[in-house]
Amino acid sequence: MKSHARVVVIGGGVVGCSVLYHLTKFGWTDVVLLERSELTSGSTWHAAGGIHTINGDPNVAKLQKYTVELYKEIEEYSGQDVGLHLTSGLMLAATQQRFEWLKSVLAKGKYAGMDAELLTAKEAADMMPLLDPSHFVGAVYDPNEGHVDPYGVTHAYAKSAKKNGAEIYLHTRVEDLVQLEDGTWRVLTDKGEIRAEHIVNAGGLWAREVGRMVGLELPVLAMEHMYLITEDMPEVIEYNQRSGKEIQHCVDFDGEIYLRQERNGMLMGTYEKACRPWSPLSTPWDFGHELLAEDLERIAPELEVGFRHFPAFNKAGIKKIINGPFTFSPDGNPLVGPVRGMTNYWSACAVMAGFSQGGGVGLALANWMINGDPGFDVFAMDVSRYGDYATLAYTNAKVRENYTRRFSIRFPNEELPAARPLLTTPIYDKLKAAGAVFGASYGLETPLWFAPEGVEDKFSWRRSTDFDSVGAEAKAVRAGVGLMETSGYAKYSVSGDGAREWLDTLLAGRIPPTGRMALTPMLNEAGKLIGDFTVANLDEEEFLVIGSGIAEEYHMRWFEQHLPDDGSVEVSPLGLGLVGLSIAGPKARDVLAKLTHLDMSDSEFPFMDIREMDIGMAQAIVGRVSYTGDLGYEIWMRPEYQRYLFDAIMDAGAEFGISLFGARALNSLRLEKSFGSWSREYRPLYGPLEAGLSRFVALGKEADFIGKEAALKEKAEGGSLRLRTFVVSARDADVIGDEPIFLNGEVKGWVTSGGFAHPSGVSVAIGYVPKEVADEIDGWSIEILGEELPARLQPQPLFDANGSRMRS
Ligand SMILES: Cc1cc2nc3c(=O)[nH]c(=O)nc-3n(C[C@H](O)[C@H](O)[C@H](O)COP(=O)(O)OP(=O)(O)OC[C@H]3O[C@@H](n4cnc5c(N)ncnc54)[C@H](O)[C@@H]3O)c2cc1C
Repeated sequence: MKSHARVVVIGGGVVGCSVLYHLTKFGWTDVVLLERSELTSGSTWHAAGGIHTINGDPNVAKLQKYTVELYKEIEEYSGQDVGLHLTSGLMLAATQQRFEWLKSVLAKGKYAGMDAELLTAKEAADMMPLLDPSHFVGAVYDPNEGHVDPYGVTHAYAKSAKKNGAEIYLHTRVEDLVQLEDGTWRVLTDKGEIRAEHIVNAGGLWAREVGRMVGLELPVLAMEHMYLITEDMPEVIEYNQRSGKEIQHCVDFDGEIYLRQERNGMLMGTYEKACRPWSPLSTPWDFGHELLAEDLERIAPELEVGFRHFPAFNKAGIKKIINGPFTFSPDGNPLVGPVRGMTNYWSACAVMAGFSQGGGVGLALANWMINGDPGFDVFAMDVSRYGDYATLAYTNAKVRENYTRRFSIRFPNEELPAARPLLTTPIYDKLKAAGAVFGASYGLETPLWFAPEGVEDKFSWRRSTDFDSVGAEAKAVRAGVGLMETSGYAKYSVSGDGAREWLDTLLAGRIPPTGRMALTPMLNEAGKLIGDFTVANLDEEEFLVIGSGIAEEYHMRWFEQHLPDDGSVEVSPLGLGLVGLSIAGPKARDVLAKLTHLDMSDSEFPFMDIREMDIGMAQAIVGRVSYTGDLGYEIWMRPEYQRYLFDAIMDAGAEFGISLFGARALNSLRLEKSFGSWSREYRPLYGPLEAGLSRFVALGKEADFIGKEAALKEKAEGGSLRLRTFVVSARDADVIGDEPIFLNGEVKGWVTSGGFAHPSGVSVAIGYVPKEVADEIDGWSIEILGEELPARLQPQPLFDANGSRMRS
């Protein structure tokens, strides 16, 4: 065995081999893969090998498309047959609601360039002879589906990588990992030691164990999964002979099953409700190529539906039942990228659809390792999307939920119940008593809206039971004053004598003087948006930085990677050690003034000022800013003060008719200001000019901030997209996100977010379109649930276009 390598990839499943191949393809050839047994000795060997391009997240869908298209390349390059059967596929809907969901999937696919199409049940049955159309409403046809041979794919990656110079050591188990002071790794195996600059954890079923070697508890869990293979079926043979084609792939969502042809018979698998985790605490090292005990009873309810929907199965004999484990993260997407707090420890695990996603994971990770950036927007599969709330038990509960819901519809207003409530703030019970309906965000219970007695969220694609209440909450803010909890934002303390200088190079905007706040984007080297913060200067050596709650780990990783090592700056996430309340609306000042002896007038406490002050008896940090676009204050406090402050503000606000509002009303309010939000409008896909954030980028400041050169280039060349707001002639459903935007009937862009702007009384969509057409006012339309609806460009914010409400 070699004594040194630039990279050691741990694990020779489809994912590890793909990472190895991509590293060599992009020029890193001093790379080694260590496999404790033979290649494909984890979940890979008994996979059904199904491939498809559809994913709920369009960015992951693109990487799946890449994976499917890669198979020809690695087959040719390696000379290894990958057993590619591009049969095409059908996604079937047995209910109208499911059909609406499929339409939304199809709409999302349109701007991603997928050439899928909508079919009636009869048309679907004409294509796929085994299905009984009387059970279905319709289908989506996708030409880019099929299956591959798991052994062939893994070996094709491995052979291609070897051809490029990689080395693979089989029967070599990594037993421990030790990081040295210089950041390099000692990889201790049962065959000796190897030193490496980078480690990739592609341990699959053993990813947790490889994580634990460095004290990491990755949120990943294996589940048992079963599929059956039938004896030869005459219907299959007859169809093959008649059409000269294989039977298509099918996903029958309402039956919770998938099926495809296997030799002259069929394969049918299911994500059963009675699911079972495998090895929930740790994976035995001696687990090999054995299968798990079959348990037909557990999957009987789903198979019954399957056999009804595909009647030919009733007469078919069952040749084999496969039961094998494979891994999931809490939301079912992979865990990819550098792990925060460690140097060059890379995660490539929890890849539940290795044959659809493995190529994309390898591509993104290799880019990331070599160029410092994945090259795409991969937040949906970034290992940093989970914080330390994602414990073993949390993961267990969420993975079970995800597994059983693999083929279920998730409505846009649906909050999933597993592992909740977990994190709560001190006023949780008070909000609940006031009717709060909560969603969980980064583990924290967050009020979405306040329901009148007896009314609850009815999950739907269309406007639902919350519509009127959210409207009333939003209007109450505009008319008087509202209070909302803001604890879910991420808050960071940045301190030390080097704090200002460091922030100046980290953030693209101007760092404000003491007592002031500023909005500032954060850019990567390529000049794309990787953050959107409010930075507050409490005193020259103490800053409070506020950003998106879901990105806390993602941002901390970036901060820590860029900290100077002279100890002049300290960054720490404040988590729920600092909680928040926000009051907004034209009466907000009157409410606050009742709780302090200080002068709250505009001249004494202007827009974007921040100060430490007492409110009643509580110490707080108060900033004059509001995401509602109205006069407003954000009030930050230690948690032990939150209950007191909540009561004090509600009491003081009573005479002004103060009311509570939640995240959905906030969305409604920010839409009519055309304010973008992190992870929707602001993502690493876009530059600040494209996103309309140029005014917050201080190109003229002295500091050479990260991404400055690229931002200057964007400014000079103009970027290619523009973020725009549209008013949509919607009837009973608003955009959700990812819908196509058409100009004169042609797809030109995509929606990033939207909803109903209640105070203005219109349906709003925000999205990106090419800059060349970005100022066209008319001719637009936006697809909602399969219907192309007229839309009009809204060049100015719908509410308070000159910003006087928040500034005076
Ligand atoms: C029944 C079933 C059906 C499936 N059907 C499909 C499908 O149709 N389509 C699809 O895309 N996916 C399917 N999958 C999922 C697919 O198998 C996984 O997504 C894929 O195998 C994940 O690959 P991996 O490389 O991450 O993990 P693994 O295959 O588990 O590979 C990990 C490898 O790492 C090695 N290893 C671990 N620790 C060490 C160590 N310390 N030292 C050295 N080596 C180590 C292991 O021996 C193993 O070979 C199915 C899975 C099952 C079980």
